[in-house]
Amino acid sequence: MSDDIKAQCRKYIFETYARTPVAFVRGEGCRLWDDTGKEYLDFLAGIAVCSLGHCHPEVTRAIVENAGKLVHVSNLFYTYPQVQLAAELTRLSFADKVFFCNSGAEANEAAIKLARKYSRDRFGPDRFHVVTMKNSFHGRTLATLSATGQSKVQKGFEPLVEGFVYADFNSIPAVEAAITEKTCAVMVEPVQGEGGLNFPAPGYFRELKALCRERNLLLIVDEVQTGLGRTGTLFAHEQEDIKPDMMTLAKAIANGLPMGVMLATDEVSGSFSPGTHATTFGGGPLVASAALASLRILSNPDFLRKVRENGSYFMERLEGLKNRYSFVKQVRGRGLLIGLELGIPGARFVQKCLERGAVINCTHETVLRFVPPLIVGRDDIDRLIEILDGIFAEESDETRPALNS
Ligand SMILES: *Cc1c(COP(=O)(O)O)cnc(C)c1O
Repeated sequence: MSDDIKAQCRKYIFETYARTPVAFVRGEGCRLWDDTGKEYLDFLAGIAVCSLGHCHPEVTRAIVENAGKLVHVSNLFYTYPQVQLAAELTRLSFADKVFFCNSGAEANEAAIKLARKYSRDRFGPDRFHVVTMKNSFHGRTLATLSATGQSKVQKGFEPLVEGFVYADFNSIPAVEAAITEKTCAVMVEPVQGEGGLNFPAPGYFRELKALCRERNLLLIVDEVQTGLGRTGTLFAHEQEDIKPDMMTLAKAIANGLPMGVMLATDEVSGSFSPGTHATTFGGGPLVASAALASLRILSNPDFLRKVRENGSYFMERLEGLKNRYSFVKQVRGRGLLIGLELGIPGARFVQKCLERGAVINCTHETVLRFVPPLIVGRDDIDRLIEILDGIFAEESDETRPALNS
């Protein structure tokens, strides 16, 4: 990478990201190329965004065709791709209606606003608290960072938006203790992605749904990361055998173009009447066309079966590494949302992977996170395991006391 781009980035762009010194210039499938021509195997997919791989031909075709036809007209008018996408999303989910926006945070913001409005319409003004989980992640706008149960996201931006109460994830008694007469909703991720890849205990979501029904609370699932095939079913909550009242989507929906969606049942959606909520760009024809093309592939049952099979295969191979290296503590995953918990910090392995031509990520200090494009093949998985094996072997050599000294 040239020093020039680094210096210019530093000079002209807010330094809100700790960037890795690589400048990518091209992508295809599970491969990326940097500006020196070096090739990388991508097991991050733009953080669970490019699920169909980079520049998937069908998504590219939708973008190219619509870029030359109609890009934006405003939601004051009807556009065909938006309505077709909404029909498809409701056909494929519990939801009856959708609201389109431009990011995960905005989708969650819309869900929080709708929960408050619905509760006010139905129960009066005093009921507006939302129970969220410790270690959750819901976004960086003021309301969504207030909803996020991690102080590192909130620090410096106080006062927080009022009305969020945090409970331990995976604990029904903790949610019960957090509920008061002011509570209107519970908001939760099916798997905590940014919080270190925490999976729900069997039956947790069924109990949570029953509790919400009993107390007249809305259940909002944040599927911004888990949605659209990532865990091996189109939506992760399907595996918990529950129907939420609201769901949010973003990351993978348009395979890299920005889009967020808030979905709800007819019962709840009526509280957003004309003029109550809006966004200029939401669901425009270009991005909606890309999302339609993506959704057609992501929702295919054969595609989803392959995600589950390749996920299982990947986890088996990671278990193999766990058996060989004592600092590898646990493999956890569902579909192709997979974490490797280490007993030591993971950042240097991310760096070493990059040097050897693989892009991975580390969350919560010690969890290596793998969210490859869902089209990843067994040969790609084998290659990544080989790279990890090499790196882990070096680590063992470095930490093992020298024999003949
Ligand atoms: C990424 C993420 C968000 C935020 O999405 P943005 O598009 O970055 O605003 C919200 N919730 C979850 C679970 C996420 O993984």
